[in-house]
Amino acid sequence: MNLELPHRDDLIIPCAKTDPEVFHLTKWSDRAKRICASCPISTACKTSARQNRLWGTWGGETNDERVAAGFIPTGWGKKIREN
Ligand code: SF4
Repeated sequence: MNLELPHRDDLIIPCAKTDPEVFHLTKWSDRAKRICASCPISTACKTSARQNRLWGTWGGETNDERVAAGFIPTGWGKKIREN
């Protein structure tokens, strides 16, 4: 099942004005979580990231938190084996 995020042209989401790397690099996950905390669609964003097995911090949830909740990002085991 693929969750559609709400789309409205007048909806300003905080990450739209932030360097995308903030949401992809673990070293900036605390910053991403703070940004997501003020987002009006954070719950839907977190659900979408879980369902689509995404990497990064989405809806205020980091990779490690997503894995702990049972939603393992695509390629997670491969990354662990390479490290
Ligand atoms: S919750 Fe999702 S849409 Fe909202 S700021 Fe965070 S990454 Fe962006």
